[in-house]
Amino acid sequence: MSDQKGYSPPNEMPRRPMASVLTGQKALVTGASKGVGAGIAVALAQAGADVLLNYNSDRAGAEQTADEVRAAGRTAVLFKADVGNEGEVISMFRAMTEQLGRIDILINNAGLQRNAPFDQMTMADWQTVIGTNLTGQFLCAREAVRCFKRQGIDRSISYALGKIICISSVHDVIPWAGHVNYATAKGGIMLMMKSMAQELAPLRIRINSLSPGAIRTPMNVEKLTSQEEFERQLLKFIPYKRIGEPEDCGRAAVWLASDDSDYVHGATLYLDGGMTLYPEFAHGG
Ligand code: NAD
Repeated sequence: MSDQKGYSPPNEMPRRPMASVLTGQKALVTGASKGVGAGIAVALAQAGADVLLNYNSDRAGAEQTADEVRAAGRTAVLFKADVGNEGEVISMFRAMTEQLGRIDILINNAGLQRNAPFDQMTMADWQTVIGTNLTGQFLCAREAVRCFKRQGIDRSISYALGKIICISSVHDVIPWAGHVNYATAKGGIMLMMKSMAQELAPLRIRINSLSPGAIRTPMNVEKLTSQEEFERQLLKFIPYKRIGEPEDCGRAAVWLASDDSDYVHGATLYLDGGMTLYPEFAHGG
């Protein structure tokens, strides 16, 4: 059995060249050491952006992402900060301005899980998840907005004063037993994003959410041991019948960050192969 551990389903994502729609833009990606954050950082670079890669503990992972950003011909800057720590977040945005000159795009990605049955969930489980997944997004968005306002609009770079993309989850609408802290944080992101979008629209700051379903990150593939497990644990929830790739998130983030989506504001883009379509009702319920 051990030789089957870590089963990795085939990658069936279409391969397409990336258009240079972010030329001259500067992006900050939180939690960029691996997974969704790494996929988005590399895609932004391939579309022409220089990137500050935030990490909290995994420096080696962030270095790997930086290599891929540089391979795309763009500048990568690494910065260690806990997104839930106000002082560290403020320092990170200062470094962004000092080292890359400005910020055009914030990808609020850093997140984690501390799962437990509800009556066994500790205060630490609750506060760690809310502190990183929700408060972390608030702190980074607030600093980004302060930077956007200070630097002003430059239409040769973008028609928006700045763009913020909140990485949420299908669990901003799908309840999740055993993960009440996580679903609460993601549900909170939904109304934080919409309220910020309402308040900041007149400044031409564009804010949207990207809500993935099941993406090929360690969190999802570590528990798979075989094709059968993959189908049992994941595919039955995915009408489109493939697992999402970090590159899928990257391409969607590039579009949401570019002027191609200039009239998209306060929206949530579900990137989930149809997971939010109540697949259990596909055959009449
Ligand atoms: P991951 O564990 O592979 O990566 C998360 C990254 O965030 C890591 O690099 C981690 O070090 C970093 N991080 C954690 N706490 C941090 C902190 N306090 N400060 C700075 N960085 C911190 O997970 P992932 O699957 O890539 O998830 C990324 C985002 O996508 C999360 O917000 C997650 O909720 C969301 N998401 C993922 C999936 C999925 O299927 N993988 C689905 C829906 C939503």
